[in-house]
Amino acid sequence: MDLRRRYFIKKSLFLSGSLLLSPFSLLAGQKKYDRWIPAYEKLELEGKLAQRIKQAYALFEHCTLCPRNCGVNRQKGEKGFCRAPLKPVIFSYHPHFGEEMSLVGGKGSGTIFFSNCNLRCIFCQNWPISHEGRGKEIRDEDLADVMVHLQKMGCHNINLVTPTHVMPNILNATRMALKKGLHLPLVYNTSGYECLEILKILEGIVDIYMPDMKYMDTDKSAKYSGGAGDYPEMAKKAILEMHRQVGELKLDRQGIAIRGLMIRHLVMPNRVAGTEKFVKWMAEALPKSTYVNIMAQYRVEYKAYDYTEIARGITVQEFLEAMNWAEKVGLTNLDPQSVALKNFYHHHRTH
Ligand code: SF4
Repeated sequence: MDLRRRYFIKKSLFLSGSLLLSPFSLLAGQKKYDRWIPAYEKLELEGKLAQRIKQAYALFEHCTLCPRNCGVNRQKGEKGFCRAPLKPVIFSYHPHFGEEMSLVGGKGSGTIFFSNCNLRCIFCQNWPISHEGRGKEIRDEDLADVMVHLQKMGCHNINLVTPTHVMPNILNATRMALKKGLHLPLVYNTSGYECLEILKILEGIVDIYMPDMKYMDTDKSAKYSGGAGDYPEMAKKAILEMHRQVGELKLDRQGIAIRGLMIRHLVMPNRVAGTEKFVKWMAEALPKSTYVNIMAQYRVEYKAYDYTEIARGITVQEFLEAMNWAEKVGLTNLDPQSVALKNFYHHHRTH
């Protein structure tokens, strides 16, 4: 999860009442793509989106939406590791100005924070939402209205934060929103703890994948993320699949992201995140021009105080070594804000 979200969560907007909706349909009579259109719209035009929703919804009967593979029947109200009910629970939604510049643009990233989480890191800054599931349960129709509302506010994309356990609801809502005029890119903003087979359902629906790569070592992911020892393996496979589906990040003429892969990696104290291994893996497994954001904003939160190894923020030295490793292996598409921060630290150390 993006640690900068905390500020915005305090300013959360809870769902209330119905929202004004656009009355027109984008699909009427459209045959050719004479403008940029989102992936899910193309799939709808090909007549395939409804089938994908059906396929996704069927997974709720024996939930295998993520590598936890709980097998619970969420249609009957059973809950698995994520504790998510059948309907989506939303904490807040709003234009977000703390995300990457190519998502924020001038009018913000249309961010929807889903409650509950299938990974549940013990240092999560959003723990009241992710661990305790605080938020409001809504219908898929309401979720569709939220998407359209964010578009009406001028947002550049629909940024789905922690979407994995509500993926079927998201697909259903997206199709409903499409019929109400939605035409923004979908950003799948995930911890990276994903299953390959599930991601295949999303092919041709998601425009921008934004996975974290949190750890490279199984003992760390097991210790700090709810026993998920398979996180590094699953996240690596997931990222390769995401890249296969959407390729490298593409921006429009205004510098706004419209398609592609955006990887996030949070530097942790005492090299817990395995940053050196991560950048080496990235340079070998993906084109060196793949976008990556090496993030410096780790803060001690929630239960992280109980673990000495992660009970402090990162040092300037730890951030600089992370950036140096990334450059040394030849990664060329580092987030501009992280590069600016590196330059700032360098400047202040040498003056
Ligand atoms: S989405 Fe939730 S219930 Fe389903 S497998 Fe993952 S943790 Fe279990």
